[in-house]
Amino acid sequence: MLNKTTIEPIGVLCSPFKQKFSIPRQPRLAPAARGIIKLSDGYNSPDMVRDLETFSHLWLVFGFHENSDKGWQPLVRPPRLGGNKKTGVLATRSTFRPNGLGLSAVKFERVIIKDNMASIEVSGIDLLDGTPVYDVKPYISYCDVIDAECGFAPDAPQLKTVNFSELAVSFLNQHDVPNEFEVLIEQILAQDPRPAYKQQKTDDKVYRVELYNFDVHWQVIDDCILVTNIHPI
Ligand code: SAH
Repeated sequence: MLNKTTIEPIGVLCSPFKQKFSIPRQPRLAPAARGIIKLSDGYNSPDMVRDLETFSHLWLVFGFHENSDKGWQPLVRPPRLGGNKKTGVLATRSTFRPNGLGLSAVKFERVIIKDNMASIEVSGIDLLDGTPVYDVKPYISYCDVIDAECGFAPDAPQLKTVNFSELAVSFLNQHDVPNEFEVLIEQILAQDPRPAYKQQKTDDKVYRVELYNFDVHWQVIDDCILVTNIHPI
């Protein structure tokens, strides 16, 4: 008989990504994407994170909580294969999978201790705001770095050029925005977050991405991304 067990999150991630659309498809593709793991009661004593700062990177084990009621299928269509070809779910990093668990290697930034409660700041995240974190482990090069065969995903995705309109630039200059906000927008949009089937077509749609408390509007023009405007939410 299968051994069923119950696990509970040790914390929740606060992230600039308020919706799934536009979140990088893997960690460290947007190094400016910073998040804070707020450890929960029972897991947040400073002892829990003692010496964490001696590691530069961490593994996060987390839940794809936004998909929890959406089920999974044995075959999925990875965006990297154009969104048409089916592959076994276990041969992909699909977010619709049995148990809905995700795994990301992210950069450790710092431990924050406030009122004797610990939080962990990380960067290069590919996770939605509110993601439950089940475990944090140090990334260890001697056993975690492998010169591996990588199936349909041998290389990092190709990047597009991102330009900012005058309106967008003046918004960034005149408003109090988060640190590295412009860099974050650029790193995210360079990945071209549109669904795979849109990428080869002419597309004059204005897209909207919610980052922190801002709405970023953008379009694809001549195969480059143009940030047309930014609005506070
Ligand atoms: N590196 C992880 C995640 C890869 S998938 C792994 O391989 O397991 C990354 C995508 O997951 C993001 O682009 C976003 O669309 C989605 N995602 C991130 N956090 C999520 C969450 N809490 N619930 C559902 N989907 C999420």
